[in-house]
Amino acid sequence: MALIHLKPIGIIHSCFKQKFGIPRQSRLAPAATAELVLLPPYNRAEAIKGLEQFSHIWITFIFHQIQSDDWLPTIRPPRLGGKQRLGVFATRSTHRPNPLGLSAVKLEEICVQDSEVYLKLSGVDFLDKTPVVDIKPYLPYADVITDATYGYADQPLDEQCPNKLQILFTADTQQFCADYQKQTGRVLGSLIQQILAQDPRPAYLRNKPVPESEQPRYHGISLWDLNIRWYYSTAGIVVDDIQFVNT
Ligand code: SAM
Repeated sequence: MALIHLKPIGIIHSCFKQKFGIPRQSRLAPAATAELVLLPPYNRAEAIKGLEQFSHIWITFIFHQIQSDDWLPTIRPPRLGGKQRLGVFATRSTHRPNPLGLSAVKLEEICVQDSEVYLKLSGVDFLDKTPVVDIKPYLPYADVITDATYGYADQPLDEQCPNKLQILFTADTQQFCADYQKQTGRVLGSLIQQILAQDPRPAYLRNKPVPESEQPRYHGISLWDLNIRWYYSTAGIVVDDIQFVNT
């Protein structure tokens, strides 16, 4: 069969600058934001005429930053602790024959300025610079299936976790979040909370109590123009340091 070519119609500018820490599905972190900038020749107001009537939209995108083009018929979903294998088509893994992602996100605002047309989105699970190949309105009458069953993926990971860790901010990081929100409108504190509630660590480290004697184990992510660092302690997850990138 002939190859099918897809044309990117837009590019994502996301709060997530690296893969580590991105929620595993859209809407798990409502404070996660992105702008979808339409590319020429699709950057025309008429191409999105009527979209403002919808609160949510489907975005079809390319997992452009997967490590290899190889695919396997089975993969290990993180929510099964990385131990059990399932068929690739029974999962939402990024490693698939065609690296296409599909996310339902909130449409916050549509902006049209000269030749720039972009959509402000929230609840996203996209990496920065993700190419987008399609946008479709979310239709509750067709897309909400109230009697759908969903097997192993029956709840978000944070609800599954038996030893939920508390998320604690130091006085400095709390103040930083408040100042940053005042300056930029970005709800940084909530976003950090929502990301850490999903416990972004590898499956083998999750749900293990932190030994009292152990040195704190630091982890970090980049969000917008910031680097954030936290560690796991017996008291919970401590958000310890927030710095502007390149300072
Ligand atoms: N909601 C989409 C779906 O179901 O098709 C994506 C689900 S996928 C499991 C979500 C993960 O994809 C994120 O946690 C992030 O690690 C990864 N991801 C997001 N954007 C990506 C990109 N452009 N390239 C590679 N991986 C990406």
